[in-house]
Amino acid sequence: MSHARRLLVVGNWKMHGTHASNEVLLEGLRSAGPLPCDAAVCVPFPYLAQAAERLARSPLAWGAQDCSAFEEGAYTGEVSAVMLADFGCRYVIVGHSERRALHAESDQTVADKARAALARGVTPIVCVGETLAQREAGETEVIVKRQLSAVIHTLGHCAGEMVVAYEPVWAIGTGHSASPEQAQAVHALLRSQLQAATRHAGGMRLLYGGSVKPDNAATLFAQPDIDGGLIGGAALKAADFLAICRAGVLR
Ligand code: PEP
Repeated sequence: MSHARRLLVVGNWKMHGTHASNEVLLEGLRSAGPLPCDAAVCVPFPYLAQAAERLARSPLAWGAQDCSAFEEGAYTGEVSAVMLADFGCRYVIVGHSERRALHAESDQTVADKARAALARGVTPIVCVGETLAQREAGETEVIVKRQLSAVIHTLGHCAGEMVVAYEPVWAIGTGHSASPEQAQAVHALLRSQLQAATRHAGGMRLLYGGSVKPDNAATLFAQPDIDGGLIGGAALKAADFLAICRAGVLR
């Protein structure tokens, strides 16, 4: 089977790391040499400069885990997309389920953040995904479509420039990944929604996230509509993250 889209593997470090431990992790990533996919790490804000310095001239890009929906102003504690661009960020995760749940981010807030990022040339990685209760109630399709719809409408003709990550909440950090078939079914749904809105969804990258590890990445990435992964826990060890980056090589 041939795939038109180059895989993208993104590490989400969440709120982990210190200056010293990052040195070890970044050195492990930097010294990996060429990768068969696009790859990036999304690090906590205080370590953006460190990632930018260490990953310059490496195959890996870097990014952040959130940004403000606003350009600048009286928003204490917020970090704007302008600032992320200033640090050379290629990507920013928006709408991670932890932010939706713990910071009450609405679908529209997530969409506004995605728009703010794109306006500054930072590619938003927009996360969507259902909880276990929603899946068990048969609501997966309605939930992910609603989450994506807000972003599509807000981005308008730029919607084709985002990356989408399907992350079932029940699979994040649990060790229980969605099966390749479960993930593929949702990815196909999302791609057809994107196609109806943008007409060039065939070139968009849809990542799967939720307990991706070196031993399950290859079967997930072999699915026709899965174009890489958003990786949490396994992104904290260079060897595991690089093994995941290399898992798509046979697809
Ligand atoms: C995540 O936090 O986006 C994630 C997918 O985490 P994990 O890989 O640890 O499930």
